[in-house]
Amino acid sequence: PTTSPILEEAVKKIKVTRTQKSRISEIDFNNLVFGKKYADHMLVADFDGKEWKNAEILPFGNLSVSPSNAAWHYGQAIFEGIKAYKDQQGEPMIFRPYDNYARFNTSAERMGMPSVPEWLFIGGMDMLIDLDRDWVPTNEGSSLYLRPFMIAADEFIGVRPSDTYKFVIINSPSGPYFNKPIRLLVQDKYIRAFPGGVGYAKAAGNYGGAMYPTMQARKQGYDQILWVDGMEFKYLQECGTMNVFAIIGNKALTPDLTQGTILAGVTRTSVMDILTDMGLTVEERPVSIEEIVTASKNGTLREVFGTGTASSVAYVEQLDYKDHKITLDPSKYEVGDELLQRLDAIRTGKAADTRNWNYKVSK
Ligand code: PMP
Repeated sequence: PTTSPILEEAVKKIKVTRTQKSRISEIDFNNLVFGKKYADHMLVADFDGKEWKNAEILPFGNLSVSPSNAAWHYGQAIFEGIKAYKDQQGEPMIFRPYDNYARFNTSAERMGMPSVPEWLFIGGMDMLIDLDRDWVPTNEGSSLYLRPFMIAADEFIGVRPSDTYKFVIINSPSGPYFNKPIRLLVQDKYIRAFPGGVGYAKAAGNYGGAMYPTMQARKQGYDQILWVDGMEFKYLQECGTMNVFAIIGNKALTPDLTQGTILAGVTRTSVMDILTDMGLTVEERPVSIEEIVTASKNGTLREVFGTGTASSVAYVEQLDYKDHKITLDPSKYEVGDELLQRLDAIRTGKAADTRNWNYKVSK
């Protein structure tokens, strides 16, 4: 039975072709590697220049794409990352998909791409997870990682916005994220995003552009770059592909989004609410690297962590900026630990979902 007008519309418009043979027995749910294996089904739809059509849920498989596909040449490509968990009764739930849906359409607008309707993104995702519900892991810390994406589909190598697009959702069971503490490098050589740029969009090119600087940082023994602004090389933006938080005294500081240089993380906004619940004062404002260095020197810097869907909360153990080498002790991260516990409890239905973050998949 369908449960909402959106879902009814989705069921009407999306053709379902089930796999003849599930691959689920090939999966070792105790040893899941992130992003390597995909669930039985995927969703695919086409934008023909006017509307979304040919929406279909079908067995996961290759797409046939022309070498002249515009996305490959000029980068009209956006994506999302969302996680599905099972509640205590074993029913699948998706964490805050409407926030990702809104961000997806924000990214689409910035990249000159069409928006995706709710029946396709939310309704289609609901139908897909319902069909692949057995793929949602139940082991502690595991989840089904959902990857909706959209690419230009015109077969044309002239530089102009594509008329046609493809929207796809694939799902990958992923294992627990071991909170290996990370080492961050702050540098003023490479910049991720500028005001007026595309930093706030989840556009593929943002990730491509970050590869080389990150490789350089890795060669020096760091895990990620802590990106700073490109005007004064002073204000924190994000770390790797996570938003960044610093706990100084009883305050939780995180950079504000007003410059459009930072991705508005769904974990970030959830964490801000939970930290407030925990009694901390959350300050969303420009945060300078000097402020972190000063807090470290005067002993008030307690914790620094990154937040994101893939990793939840990643503790920082080293943060280097020019001659300043800040060493932190993640084994003493009380705020981070409680935060992680509270977040996990909500996502798996162990704690009350007072803010309606969980979307229950229909049966
Ligand atoms: N910043 C960037 C650049 C990211 O790619 C991500 C991951 N989507 C995040 C922050 C964290 O966002 P979220 O909490 O929505 O996963």
